[in-house]
Amino acid sequence: MPNSELANSVWPGDDTWDVARQAWNLAADQHPAAVEYAESVADVSRVVGFARERGLRVAPQGSGHGAAAISSLEDTVLLKTERMDGITIDAERRRGRVEAGALWGEVAVRAGELGLAALHGSSSDVGVVGSSLGGGIGWLSRSLGLSCNSVTAIELVTADGAERRVDADNEPELFWALRGGGGAFGVVTAMEFELFPIEQVYAGFVAWPVELAAEVAHAYREWVATVPEEMTSQLRFLNLPPVPELPEPLRGASLVDVLGAFIGDPAEGEALLRPLREVADPVWDGWGPIPTAELRRLAMDPEQPVPAMGDHALIGELTPDAADAFVRAGGPGSPLISLQLRQLGGALAREPDGAGALARLDADYALYGVGALMAPGADAVIAAHLAHVKETMAPYATAGTFPNFADQPGDDVSSAFDPDAWRRLLAVKADVDPEDVFRSNHPL
Ligand SMILES: Cc1cc2nc3c(=O)[nH]c(=O)nc-3n(C[C@H](O)[C@H](O)[C@H](O)COP(=O)(O)OP(=O)(O)OC[C@H]3O[C@@H](n4cnc5c(N)ncnc54)[C@H](O)[C@@H]3O)c2cc1C
Repeated sequence: MPNSELANSVWPGDDTWDVARQAWNLAADQHPAAVEYAESVADVSRVVGFARERGLRVAPQGSGHGAAAISSLEDTVLLKTERMDGITIDAERRRGRVEAGALWGEVAVRAGELGLAALHGSSSDVGVVGSSLGGGIGWLSRSLGLSCNSVTAIELVTADGAERRVDADNEPELFWALRGGGGAFGVVTAMEFELFPIEQVYAGFVAWPVELAAEVAHAYREWVATVPEEMTSQLRFLNLPPVPELPEPLRGASLVDVLGAFIGDPAEGEALLRPLREVADPVWDGWGPIPTAELRRLAMDPEQPVPAMGDHALIGELTPDAADAFVRAGGPGSPLISLQLRQLGGALAREPDGAGALARLDADYALYGVGALMAPGADAVIAAHLAHVKETMAPYATAGTFPNFADQPGDDVSSAFDPDAWRRLLAVKADVDPEDVFRSNHPL
């Protein structure tokens, strides 16, 4: 294949091909027609033109955390944005601006230095753009809502090669669609979003041996019904690897823990935590006042690429039966690294003024399970256990989905949207990308 029109392309057979086609999720075995590392908006426009002239499609990718859901990259140029990683923080206007490939961890640090907090999720090396296009939940969500609804402007290159800047006043319908509707409308080259003056939170995790799963799950169920929306938390099963970076009580341990963050006075946070601390003696109790930027590492998500398989469901009320089912799904003997029940509600349940396509989450909890595919045969074991989790939790699940957690190849995210919103998304797609040039992890 000729490659002179693309500045930084890698082709099948090139020495670096296997590295170039890798995603953060090493289990995503990507076979595109070519990989291009864009370094500028002009590079992005060139790739779109190059692909269209040859009848190829374009798949934008930031970190590759969401790569497992992509069904196929046949006849597609994989457009990697990791070199476009510029970040600007405007402290006075409380605004962040990032280029396409910027990661949340760096934004959290830079914003934190200026006393501001960003609406990132549990993992510091997830992309700002990809996660905001798919919704975005994190440690401040029950107070401040989905990260997509704090986005104030988006710049993108569309299939016609145009460089557009969309916001509430300019092309509002496309701006609406991009906020939660995913990456099927063009290549986002920059995004601007609100930041919040929260310098410190009361946050951490308190963990017990997994054998105490039932006691902890029922205590959490009662506790979570009493907390204000300034508290965002999750109940989690965790099988930690025996790595030297972890301190002794955590290294190689199977745990049940409650982790989260409270926006407010540390004394109030401590009082809120008391009922949980009284459940039983924990093996670890790290809750305390921390700079908000430290939330990027709270969950201990892996920061290096790993081969992972995940699946999710949205859950309604956490009844005693649902808590028992969660224990059966993720308790002793589970091969998953982590099974999480993240509390939603609060601002996540309300549609803010001027919201995007994913206006709110209509469920009480997001369930997400993930396993590492390190050993031979692990994929079958993890797939079977994820199916067991889904089946066990099915009686308590809602009909909806959360796009960012829809991680299985070919996952259909239409149920994330009400029928009118879904029709609007299809209409925007038909308008800006009638030939379906852009291949996203969640096709419309
Ligand atoms: C360990 C881990 C922890 C996570 N924690 C959270 C969490 O706490 N909260 C949460 O909400 N989600 C979370 N997620 C899910 C994550 O937000 C999604 O996987 C998201 O899609 C990742 O975005 P990315 O850009 O990093 O990944 P990518 O795989 O690079 O991108 C995902 C998709 O976004 C679109 N996209 C990316 N960049 C562009 C662009 N420039 N233009 C157009 N489209 C683009 C594409 O359709 C792409 O397929 C987590 C995932 C993992 C693996």
